[in-house]
Amino acid sequence: MDKATSEEIEAVRDLVQRFMQNEVVPVMDGFEKRAEFPRDLVRKAGEAGLYGAVFPESVGGSNMGYLAAAVIQEEMCRIDVRFASCNNQQGSTCPSCIYFGGTPQQIRKYVPNLLAGKTIGMMSLTESGGGSDAAGNMRTFARRDGDVYRITGQKMFASIANETDVGVLFAKTDREAGTKGVTAFIVQPKKYPGWTAQPIDMMGLSSAFRTNVVYLDDFVVPVEDRLGDEGDGFKIIMRTLQPGRVGVAAKALGVARACYEDALRYASERTLRGQPIGRFQMIQSDLAEMAVAIEASRALVYKAAQMMDESLPSNRIAAIAKYHASQTAKLCADKAVQIFGGYGLAKEYRVSWYRAYADMFFTGEGSANVQKILIAEDALGYKLADRHHGKTGLRDIRKDDVLKNSEQADK
Ligand SMILES: Cc1cc2nc3c(=O)[nH]c(=O)nc-3n(C[C@H](O)[C@H](O)[C@H](O)COP(=O)(O)OP(=O)(O)OC[C@H]3O[C@@H](n4cnc5c(N)ncnc54)[C@H](O)[C@@H]3O)c2cc1C
Repeated sequence: MDKATSEEIEAVRDLVQRFMQNEVVPVMDGFEKRAEFPRDLVRKAGEAGLYGAVFPESVGGSNMGYLAAAVIQEEMCRIDVRFASCNNQQGSTCPSCIYFGGTPQQIRKYVPNLLAGKTIGMMSLTESGGGSDAAGNMRTFARRDGDVYRITGQKMFASIANETDVGVLFAKTDREAGTKGVTAFIVQPKKYPGWTAQPIDMMGLSSAFRTNVVYLDDFVVPVEDRLGDEGDGFKIIMRTLQPGRVGVAAKALGVARACYEDALRYASERTLRGQPIGRFQMIQSDLAEMAVAIEASRALVYKAAQMMDESLPSNRIAAIAKYHASQTAKLCADKAVQIFGGYGLAKEYRVSWYRAYADMFFTGEGSANVQKILIAEDALGYKLADRHHGKTGLRDIRKDDVLKNSEQADK
């Protein structure tokens, strides 16, 4: 399938809504209370095809494209953003790094199981030296020792690193070479020694899906699990983060919609002075601002996803979509909490914790300031956002004959 029709997109939306309502909503609070990672539920989501929309069928994807993927993210986050916490690791950053940078053998070995939710993924780039300049400021070092690398250092905010089976981790192989000294590795913490993941206490975020500090002490990676050549890591992560940005924007859109829908309902139900608070003009003003921002975000997110489906230069529009949608999520979360009054701070109401996710999408995978820099430097002509379009030398996720050919050659 090259481009999903609008009927197919709406069928995907419907499928996600049914999956979330039937499988996730009834049990997710229990997983949160027990602080338990819902491994079987992730596998079910993988089986339902929620992680593979942008990958070709040859590696277990549905090849429906970026618009379908955006709708999946939007609806999952609208219904339960906590469960969507591992979408990136299962269907975006981790498998994309392997797909873009790996050999056909590595891709076939690892990507299908990640998309199917059979193995739990992870992507670890950030370090305490600063996520916005993660590659430039990287201290973690991978030393070649015969047939293996031994990696030593410390990574920050590695989401679900305490659960992962197969992840992608970035480390320096040449300390002096700046971003050209960064190398990407497929890591298997349950198989090799030297890995300790320590969950971080995060305010308002999931207790079932944790983000971690990872301590690496001569952690072993076989040379055959290196992605690309030494020094290819920066290229691989940049190629991965751009489509990922639209995914984060879609998640933020889902959060904004959840806040708006809850606020609308509450404004009709809550009565003060003998009338629903929705009758107060200042509450109406808040609801109107939310509705306007959501419509604008939706248009931007879908446009960016459609441009990616058409293989058009989309780095600039993706940055605009991510910036706008994450601002919208923050605005809607803030206004929803206010409309709920004191109840907006009670954990029982999801608007209380949706605010933390809005903040996270504002910062994660390229902070708001970083998006603004990208947009402004493009506008000023200092650095065109789409200057690398089609020139990375890495494979295109949706149009790839390499795998099919190599599979036939292997037979
Ligand atoms: C819950 C959560 C989960 C995460 N999961 C992962 C994960 O799985 N894997 C992973 O690798 N990372 C992950 N991250 C890290 C995330 O990508 C980083 O937090 C993000 O890139 C920002 O980095 P930082 O927090 O170090 O902030 P910094 O980079 O230190 O930025 C601090 C502030 O400075 C601003 N700033 C930065 N550069 C400039 C500039 N040039 N001009 C003006 N202002 C600037 C930023 O906008 C921000 O406001 C996660 C983070 C969170 C919170």
